[in-house]
Amino acid sequence: MTTPVVVALDYAAAAPALQLAERLSPQLCRLKVGKQLFTSAGPQLVEQLQRLGFEVFLDLKFHDIPNTVAGAVRAAAQLGVWMVNVHAAGGRRMMLAAAEALAGYSRRPLLIAVTVLTSLSDDDLAELGCAESAAQRVQRLARLAADSGLDGVVCSAMEAPVLRLAHGEHFCLVTPGIRLAGDAAGDQRRVLTPASARDNGADYLVIGRSVTAAPDPLAALQQVHADLRTTL
Ligand code: C5P
Repeated sequence: MTTPVVVALDYAAAAPALQLAERLSPQLCRLKVGKQLFTSAGPQLVEQLQRLGFEVFLDLKFHDIPNTVAGAVRAAAQLGVWMVNVHAAGGRRMMLAAAEALAGYSRRPLLIAVTVLTSLSDDDLAELGCAESAAQRVQRLARLAADSGLDGVVCSAMEAPVLRLAHGEHFCLVTPGIRLAGDAAGDQRRVLTPASARDNGADYLVIGRSVTAAPDPLAALQQVHADLRTTL
């Protein structure tokens, strides 16, 4: 399965998430389960989605002491998810422990780092005692993630060219903030179309409302693929 599209199931409960999954196709997308849906619907939902043939990105952004995060990513691997993530701000030892915890699995999840939450401005970082700008901190934390053996980072498609240059073609760039031309940006500040994100170097495109809020989600997903077939 090689689709670069990951549809974000941002729902409060299992029923609407399953209804949407049943209208989509594993050939056309993977699915992302985040904190809200996982807290309400749990591992059972992840297993149901996997039984429907979908690969799952478990977006729980683990951030804790190394031993706890190692246990959490091991649990994710045992659940059989395709991708899992941690906060790079947990530091080198935490990320090394997470990477090591997955090393023994023959089919292990991709281990991805969140660098700086896109909701944080430079002012927010200053208030946290961080003198760097968000852009500088993204680069620092992406370097730390790569050095700690992680497979890649979540980043904005705008940051992708710099990170691709710094970390080479095998470093996985996972980018949210994608919109089909004509869709509302909503609360996202800087959005790109699927083709522009891909052309910026993104490997996986996380797409929520452009698909989930569309009157016909499958048609919207097909439109994402049509956009990806276009070239600059
Ligand atoms: O609906 P939309 O396409 O904006 O959804 C994007 C998804 O990606 C949501 O699940 C959101 O939480 C997630 N995300 C994001 N920005 C980040 C990290 C994750 O929008 N920096």
